[in-house]
Amino acid sequence: MERVLPDEPAFVTFRLYEPLSLSTSDLTAPAIVWFRQDLRLDDNPALSAAARSGRPVLPVYVLDDHAPGDWTPGGASRWWLHHSLNSLAQRLAERGSRLLLLRGEAGAVIRQLVEHVEAAAIFWNRQYEPWARKRDTALKSALKDMGLEASSYNGALLHEPWTVETKSGGPYKVFTPYWRAAGDDSADFNLLAAPQTLRGFQDAPHGDALEDWALTPSEPNWASGFAACWTPGEAGAHAMLKTFLKTRLEDYGENRDIPGVMGTSRLSPHLHFGEISPRQVWMALKEARAPKSDASKFRAELGWREFAHHLLHHFPDFPEANFQEKFDAFPWRDDKTALRAWTRGRTGIPIVDAGMRELWATGWMHNRVRMITASFLVKNLLISWRHGEAWFWDTLVDADLANNSAGWQWVAGSGADAAPYFRIFNPVSQGERFDPDGRYVRRWCPELKNLPNTLIHKPWTANRSDLEDAGVRLGQTYPQPIVDLAETRKRALAAFESIKDAA
Ligand code: FAD
Repeated sequence: MERVLPDEPAFVTFRLYEPLSLSTSDLTAPAIVWFRQDLRLDDNPALSAAARSGRPVLPVYVLDDHAPGDWTPGGASRWWLHHSLNSLAQRLAERGSRLLLLRGEAGAVIRQLVEHVEAAAIFWNRQYEPWARKRDTALKSALKDMGLEASSYNGALLHEPWTVETKSGGPYKVFTPYWRAAGDDSADFNLLAAPQTLRGFQDAPHGDALEDWALTPSEPNWASGFAACWTPGEAGAHAMLKTFLKTRLEDYGENRDIPGVMGTSRLSPHLHFGEISPRQVWMALKEARAPKSDASKFRAELGWREFAHHLLHHFPDFPEANFQEKFDAFPWRDDKTALRAWTRGRTGIPIVDAGMRELWATGWMHNRVRMITASFLVKNLLISWRHGEAWFWDTLVDADLANNSAGWQWVAGSGADAAPYFRIFNPVSQGERFDPDGRYVRRWCPELKNLPNTLIHKPWTANRSDLEDAGVRLGQTYPQPIVDLAETRKRALAAFESIKDAA
């Protein structure tokens, strides 16, 4: 239940308290730190600025299901958020501070809070989603008009999107030159230590209890497997980074594409929620012992994250609109049955089903398999990338507007620096190449586990005795393929031909 709605009388919760009569000119008036996608104490410029101000610090998080419109956090993100806020609240409590939780349209809630506690200053780290930028710009100017110090910082990126420009002063649209300009491997960043203590603000309102927000699912508890995979929060982020640097970085270049091997960092949700900053990751890499090529490859992946934010900043309708306008005329199919089979991991194409099941069970999917499953949806099923983007948004714990839309538009071929449309992944050969021993498919599609490696990625080609030996009954224990891969490839190419010359 929402406690503070924009059209309700202001501050249902706060009216329990008498307004404070503090002067904003002395150092008793609090500095608000508005936590958003920066749920950490270390290397947090907004928090450090508040601590430096010498004022009592009032940390707040606002759950806003209004401003993001279609992009309110999905189910898996909400699960993560719950645990991450819990962890943040504990970390703050250890430093003598209490995280205030409020709910409602964040611009209005923050303005009301500022007035209620007679804050002297407010600090936050920037977000890059178009709806957040719009809100923050308006809010900052309103707060300044009220006489407040309102400052925002870069807490989420290596480089602000507008600081990387082409020679002619415009945005980059292709990754390689972008990263050549932005990705100097020898770059150093100064990191900020977490404030050791925070001057508490005694007169803060109570706000909500985290449990009241019901961010985690109950019946059915589809997130029951998440806790075995993830430890949301700052400590969990650092533990994940440490293990990666110690055990996986040195083979990153080779293993990063093998979904059956734990070869990547799995930092994406931690980075999305800002439990660790990319600058911290970057600097930790410098200390790690690993071949230069592996470290460089890993830095380039951070570079893709930067590039996606660069695109989102410069082309704010990127999450909704084809970057290449000719795709507006693309003959997408409306096929709810096929879409459902894809979401449920019941397409009959093992590597696709394995990926979709991994996503459902863990809230994450390996990057190579994200590309394969996305390509299957968009090219073999001819279903618009917007449907895939929406499903990922709801089910990924790392759902991120910039990275998700860039990923989908890249696969669809409609993006800025996109895979050419005619390059259509064949999920069988992708499976055979990147999951040659079938380990990944066997893990997520156990009903196929007894098939030999030669058949695990294409069970429909097996003869009756192979299927019997493996205990597989196609159409019963495992689906028949919902489409013919060769025919749908041709259909996709024809569809692309139909828009090739469109403006
Ligand atoms: P690592 O290989 O360890 O990479 C380190 C970090 O670099 C990641 O944590 C991530 O922050 C960043 N990164 C790596 N690859 C990419 C990439 N291609 N684009 C942008 N950043 C990247 N990533 C998200 O964080 N959120 C999403 O919503 C998202 N949706 C995607 C949708 C599609 C269709 C595709 C193809 C990719 C998507 N990605 C998304 C990118 C990528 O798949 C994940 O970032 C990666 O799999 C996360 O695993 P990792 O942390 O182990 O990555």
